[in-house]
Formats: sequence, structure tokens, C-alpha cells
Amino acid sequence: MSAADPADPPLADGPGRKLRQLADLPVSILKGVGSGAAHELSQLGVDSVLDLLTHYPRRYIDGTRLAPLAELAIGDTASVLAEVRRVNRPPARYGRGRGRSPARVELDVTDGSGGMKVVFFNQAWRAKQLAVGTQALFYGTLASYRDARQMVNPTVEILRSGGDAIDPGATPESGRVFPVYPLTEKADLTSARISRYVAEALDRAKEFSEPLPVHWRQKFHLLDRTTAFNRIHRPTTVDETEPARLRLAFDELLRLQLALVLRQRRLQEDARGIRHVVSHPDAETLVDQFLRRLPFVPTAAQHRAIDTIRADLAGPLPMHRLLQGDVGAGKTVVAVATLLVAVEGGHQGALMAPTEVLAEQHHAGVTRLLEGMVVPDPSTLSGDRPLRVALLTNRTSANDRASLHAGLVDGKVDLLIGTHALLTDEVRFRSLGAVVIDEQHRFGVEQRAALRAKGRGDDGGGRDPDLLVMTATPIPRTAAMVVFGDLDMTVITELPPGRIAVATHWARTPLDVEAAWARVRQEVASGHRAFVVCPLVEGSERVQATSVTEEAQRLAAAELTGLRIGVLHGQMRTADKETVMADFRAGRLDVLVATTVIEVGVDVAEATVMVIEDADRFGIAQLHQLRGRVGRGSDRSWCYLLSESDSPEADIRLSALERSTDGFELADVDLELRGEGTILGARQKGRSDLKLARLTSDRDLVTQAREAAEHIVGADPALADHPLLSEELRIFIDDDEAAFLFKS
Ligand code: ADP
Ligand code: MG
Repeated sequence: MSAADPADPPLADGPGRKLRQLADLPVSILKGVGSGAAHELSQLGVDSVLDLLTHYPRRYIDGTRLAPLAELAIGDTASVLAEVRRVNRPPARYGRGRGRSPARVELDVTDGSGGMKVVFFNQAWRAKQLAVGTQALFYGTLASYRDARQMVNPTVEILRSGGDAIDPGATPESGRVFPVYPLTEKADLTSARISRYVAEALDRAKEFSEPLPVHWRQKFHLLDRTTAFNRIHRPTTVDETEPARLRLAFDELLRLQLALVLRQRRLQEDARGIRHVVSHPDAETLVDQFLRRLPFVPTAAQHRAIDTIRADLAGPLPMHRLLQGDVGAGKTVVAVATLLVAVEGGHQGALMAPTEVLAEQHHAGVTRLLEGMVVPDPSTLSGDRPLRVALLTNRTSANDRASLHAGLVDGKVDLLIGTHALLTDEVRFRSLGAVVIDEQHRFGVEQRAALRAKGRGDDGGGRDPDLLVMTATPIPRTAAMVVFGDLDMTVITELPPGRIAVATHWARTPLDVEAAWARVRQEVASGHRAFVVCPLVEGSERVQATSVTEEAQRLAAAELTGLRIGVLHGQMRTADKETVMADFRAGRLDVLVATTVIEVGVDVAEATVMVIEDADRFGIAQLHQLRGRVGRGSDRSWCYLLSESDSPEADIRLSALERSTDGFELADVDLELRGEGTILGARQKGRSDLKLARLTSDRDLVTQAREAAEHIVGADPALADHPLLSEELRIFIDDDEAAFLFKS
């Protein structure tokens, strides 16, 4: 790499380059980057010098550890770093009766110690890609063909293309470490070219500003930023790269945690909360009545959750709490208790669920649990009236809707349960005191905020309701810190007693599958019920509906002859869905063939078998949710995962479900398998930049970043004494969020 030319203007003034300055400089300011290269970099999402410096290597090739060609034996599988000396495209041959032979590209390559042939079949484009002079890494097995040593269709990683200027520092013989950068097919870039651009940027930047107080650097043994940037892009040994990654990953996590902690603060500062009445000196509260009248004894974990929430509700600040609890842990009880605290003080409560089936079920269940309970009403003779629970979905009739809206405004409706329909403008409350959102992963942050905002009302004169969001898709603690870092967290750690783990079998062979259907017949014969989940099919809801109906007919004519089979899918009218669910609950149907509409929350204690067809099409979390539909009573239950797939990923997923019924453990497997992207999902859009941080392996780092963020914001809530941190944070969040976090 060329040393910095003293005549080059530095990228900015002052002691150390600020990220903000680097973010404002287009990559084309680099001498090596012409307009063509700038265009190609842009296709990688690299527009500014900061983008370039945070376009981190995907991995490294250790030039000191590569196998010299001369020492490889036939049959060895290895990586070879070599240069292309000759490219040959033999004319296609015509075999007798077999048509044209596949297109072939043959290369002669050498690494200084020796040479070999590299042959590609059906990859004609390799001739252009691997022109003479190209340096690349070839990974494959060395074979012998007509006395020549060769690799056929090896994996290729290009380090320098033939057209690149020769850079003596980058020859394979030098034994240094080569960064391999993420590239796209579209852009004609190589890792070596990116290395060169990065080197120029590093040389010209010289030193980077250090936003992290030295105290934290020492405490967590973090490198300084200048060293970290240099070692991650041009290490001298591979061992150097990990400490560099840790430092830069820490920065990412710190920015994210700062944003979350600041957001938590701002919400509190702006809040107009309600101090709820959580106890009476001489009377039983609604919550106490409710708990006493339950047909079961709440678990210790449920009690703990309710106590924590009551303490939140009694305080002046509105609660923002996430309740995590595995499938079947009994979150509904906690939700109802929360809403009742609001009702106790004359306020209203709202519960929002992601599907109609679930909203209807909650409505039916909550109405049953609260039957006979009364609230004070001076306008009546007795001085009280029955507590009123109402349901609102998109299918609620116009008439019912009008009277419901009126009841919400005059306070005659105490609890409102429903779907997204709750968010419509016409829904206005007299005084919304508490909001619960069930299965929150189905809702966006905006929807959560929209329901909360109903507390202030159209004129903004109202107050902020307390908020509880619930999820049965557990995520590991550190991941939760990243995704839900602006919420307080409570976990229900135990299941109600007497639950027997659902026996789970992966049915791979026709014999296994027959055993699954035999189990369905047997369980139905002894008075139980079964779910069958149909394969996900490509296409519209309508296509999916057709497939459910056909599968039900097929089963009725074959494996499940004589059983009473119902179907449930998203295309059905509400009334029909309700009828089917009611029939299934009451035992007028034995088997429910359904789409994943039954995934969330459906609660039928007599259902003891779940058969999931083409189970490899579903993710771990979804399978766990589906399985959670059985095993809700005290009877033994079974889950059959039907799949003939032999893909390694399907194997990991389905075996994990066979092995474990613990949602947290499964969440860990899922995270390992799919990485953080899926967890972060929409919630992180436009937010911070986790390029290096890994939620699976960087758990300590997440905790450390959280600790630092809390301390820093605690002592300096506007980040006034940490101008660099505040400036860097703004680079990575959008303007709206910055305005919210940093308003004076
Ligand atoms: P989830 O946490 O998945 O939403 P639910 O609230 O639907 O779970 O509860 C699952 C089932 O367990 C319901 O039938 C509920 O009535 C029952 N249940 C809840 N708490 C208890 C308890 N403490 N003891 C026994 N059964 C309970
Ligand atoms: Mg639930």
C-alpha cells in the first residue's frame, strides 16, 4: 500500500477525523476512485468515505496459511492462492448421440511454487471474469486427469482482477492477510480494489476522533478507534482482526443503546401518566376479585408479573413494559389484571390482538372470566352496573359499531377487545387508562403508538395510558435489549402446573406419517380433537384457502374417513369462522384443517394432536407457536412434523423442535440459524447500523454497551458533554427520531 503522500490534503481539519465529516465526503474525493468506480461502489451502498470505511471485510484469507501448490497431493482439498497465466476455451465437442458437450473454460494457474489446471463446466462467463493476470483463491479438490493436476468447478474468490494496477504489496507470495469484502454480481469490483480505496482513505484520514470516554475503553478493554479501523481493514495477522471488530461493534451497539435509553427518557419526560388505584384499605379490588374467582390458582410467576405491573401502574409515569412468556404460560390472566386496574379507577382498558380469531377468543374468554363482576355507577338504583366488555373487529356491523363508539365515549364500555380496527379514528375513549397489545411481533411500533395516543384523545387533553405488550416469541435477553431496549421487561418463567410436554415427532417416512394419522384417529376416538396445518403454498390467500379445502376433502376420503372435519382459513367470513371455532370447541367437529390463522393464541384444551404438513416450510418460532395450540390442558398431547426434506437447515430446525419444548432455547437455535436480521426486522429500519455486532456471540458486548449508555445518559441526559457521541448518533438515526431524542 502506498504511504500517504504529504501533498494530499487531509480529509478534514482538527485532531482526528470525525465520522460526521467522513459521512459528508463522497468517495469520489479519493484519488483512486474515478466516476466509474464511484458508480460501482454506489451499487454496494457505498457513497461516502464513511460508507467505505464501514464496508467491512466479510472474512480474511491468511496468506501465511495457504497451501503451496507444489505441496498438494492428488485428492487433497485446499485453498490455493494463484494467478491466472492462460485462459483457454476449447471449442464445444459433439459426442455421438449425446448432443453438445457442456461449455468448458480451462485455466492455467500458478502460485510460484507450482501450477495446475482449473476447469469450469457450464460457466462460460469465467473466461471473462478470470482473465490473465487475475489473482484468486481457488477452493476445491485436486484431481488428476490425463496426467495433469486440476481442480474442477472450484469455489473462486477474486482478490485482484487482471485489469487492476499491479500492487507489489498484494502479491500472493508476500504472505500477508487479505481482506475479502462483500461484493455484488452487478458491480465489477474486486476485494483488492476496495482494499486500495480503503487504504487511501485510512492513510489520508490518519487519525480518527475518539468519542468514547477513556474510562469505558479501559473498563471493557477496547482498542482506540484509529487502531481498530486500521486493523479491521489491513491487519498484519488474522488474530488482530477480532479485537478491532469488537471495538467497532461496541460503537454500533453503543449508538443503538444510546438511542434506546434516550427514547425511554424522553417518553418519560413528556409523559402525562395516570396514578392508578391499586388497592383499597377496606374493600377488595377488581383484580383481587378476579384472581380469587379464577378456576385455577395463578402461578408464582403470574403473581410476580402482576405485582410488578401493579407497582408500575401506581406510579406517576406511564408503564412501557414487555411481557415475555412462552406459549401457554398464561399471559392472558396478566393482561386482564392490568386492564382491571384501570377500570378500578374509573378508566377504560383496551386489548388489541393481531387476528380476528384471537380477538374473538379473547373476548369470549375475558367475558366469561369477568362474568358477574360489577363497577360503581351512581346513576343506577343499586349504585353499580355489570362490568362491560365489548368486541370490535373489521366485521363488526355498522349498527353495533355506532353504539359501541357511543359507549366508549360515555364510558359505559369498560374494556374494549379487538383487532387493528381499534386504531380507526372513530374509536374514542372517555378515559383510556391501560392498553395491552397481544402477540406484539405482529404489530409495528407505529401501531403501538397509535393505540397509546388514543389516551390523549383528539384534542390532546387526555393522558397517556399505561402500556403492556406481550409476546410468546421469546427472544434471548441480550437480543431483547437490542430490540426492545426502550421497554421494561418481565418474563413469565414457569408454565402452569400439570402441563405435560408435547411429545414431538418428525415424521419422515410414509410409515411415520401413517402413525401420525393413526394417532389422530385414536385421540378422536377417546374424545379429543386434532389440528392439521396445511402446507404454505405460494400465491394469494385464495390459493391457500383452496389448498386447505382440498386437503380436508382428501383426508376425509382417506386417512381420516368418518371423522368430522372442519376447515379454517383467512378467506372465510367472520360468522363462518366463528361457527367453525365454536363447533370445534364444543366437540361438534373432531379435526380442524387450517392455515396458520390458528398460529396465534387459539386455545382449545381438548385438542391433543397437531399435525403440521410440510413442516420444513415453517420457521422455528412459527412451529413452536403452532405446537403451542395443543398441550394446553392436562392430557398428553402430540405434535407431528411431516417432512421428507433432507436439507441441513430443515434438519436443525425439526430436530430442535423434537428435542425441546422450551421457547427460549428454541429462540437461541433460531438466532444462531438465521442471524439477527430477522429479529431486528422492521423495528430497526432507519435506525442504527449493526454491521459487525452479532447478537449471538456478542452478548457481553451488548450488556456493556447498555451499561455505558445508561451511565452516560444518566449523568448527561442531553449528551451536552459528549458532543461527538451525540453527533455520531445523529448520523445513524433519521431526522424525526433525532428531533425527538434531542429536542431541548
Ligand atoms: P398464553 O401465555 O400462551 O397467552 P393463555 O393465557 O392463553 O397462554 O393460557 C393458556 C391456558 O392456560 C389457558 O387455557 C388458561 O386458562 C390456562 N391457565 C392460565 N394460567 C393458569 C394457571 N395458573 N393454572 C392453570 N391453567 C392456567
Ligand atoms: Mg396468548
